[in-house]
Amino acid sequence: MDRPVASRVAALSHAILPFTRYLEDSSFFERSSDPNVNNFAFGNPQDMPLGAFVDAITNAAQPRDKDWFAYKLSEPESQEVVAASLRQEFGIPFEPDDIAMTNAGFGALTVAIQAIVDPGDEVVFNLPPWFLYESLTVNAGGVPVKVPVDLETFDLDLDAIEAAITPRTRAIIVNSPNNPTGRIYPPETLERLAAMLTEASHRHGRPIYLISDEPYRRIVFEGNTFHTPLAFYPHSLMTYSYGKVLLTPGQRIGYIALPPTMPDRDQLREAFRVVQLSGGFLFPNALLQHALADLDTISIDMARMQGKRDRMVGALREIGYDVHAPQGTFYLLPRSPWADDWEFTKLLEDHDILCLPGTVLEFPGFFRISLTASEEMVERSLAGFSAAFDRAKSEASPVTIAGANL
Ligand code: PMP
Repeated sequence: MDRPVASRVAALSHAILPFTRYLEDSSFFERSSDPNVNNFAFGNPQDMPLGAFVDAITNAAQPRDKDWFAYKLSEPESQEVVAASLRQEFGIPFEPDDIAMTNAGFGALTVAIQAIVDPGDEVVFNLPPWFLYESLTVNAGGVPVKVPVDLETFDLDLDAIEAAITPRTRAIIVNSPNNPTGRIYPPETLERLAAMLTEASHRHGRPIYLISDEPYRRIVFEGNTFHTPLAFYPHSLMTYSYGKVLLTPGQRIGYIALPPTMPDRDQLREAFRVVQLSGGFLFPNALLQHALADLDTISIDMARMQGKRDRMVGALREIGYDVHAPQGTFYLLPRSPWADDWEFTKLLEDHDILCLPGTVLEFPGFFRISLTASEEMVERSLAGFSAAFDRAKSEASPVTIAGANL
């Protein structure tokens, strides 16, 4: 039988099915650039880019020497910028050689997972997850093991994680501040998790790595503090993206950082380089690396983001939605008034509102709002959120559960 594509691709397309199903089933593609639509679906900017970002890349586009646009690996200047920034942020003596520059967060996760996971190795992550952890794991031959978070607090369910660890467990992905719950995991949770992983690593005779996926760590609301798992557990790999704090997800730069306490860092550094070269030159481009010293100091306006969060949480609660205030990230995760979140987001589409059904995030019964929408969209959408809520309360959820067929 003629097989036009690799069989591995079938497993990968299954792993991203909820995501592709949403794109096909919703009006996202037709309507996402319609100026009348209030687009809360993904973390894409709905305002013009930051002027400081444009200045930084414009400046970096001027060549200073003949090698300006030559092949670039993890450039020493970039590694130094990141290490210095991390040293300042966390007081941990990060070393430039322990930084691998990547194509933003996807790239960092890809390289990290490919470097440590053998076929059959288990990778634990928490539900609701970022929807590509599964395909990145499957692509490395790994086996995803999914553990729901505590539904009351959205904190990690440490007992459930402990029960999920086996001799095949190779890594756990921890995402704080969390997309989509907005939860920042507290030091006590990270301490207990570290003790549990240390004990399980000894018991099974090989390290369980913690991949700390922290692309939102600079997007933290007032009164909250981010704690990096790297400070608690030496076998940690940090993955980071500049795409969130700059709100430029199409300009791809990020990194993997190893703490100086990581026991196997020589082998890991080398493994990252091998994976990046053999994986298809998985390094960020020259221009973004030249701009990095400037980019590292820039951020979206967090006061504005906080304003949007407060306005939206307050208004949604007044309408009657059950929604908590996130500690970080730019997402809200209200409960869907209909048990079928897929149908409810379709109802919102009728009111010119695009949101992501929780089913896509393996978290049915909820839906996600991305506050990367403009203030104008926030204000304009409230009547629609209200009308959809009233209708959902007065009519039973439709019988066809589209999301359940995934
Ligand atoms: N991890 C998480 C938790 C994310 O939400 C995202 C992006 N939505 C990524 C990683 C990937 O980030 P990037 O697109 O900047 O590579």
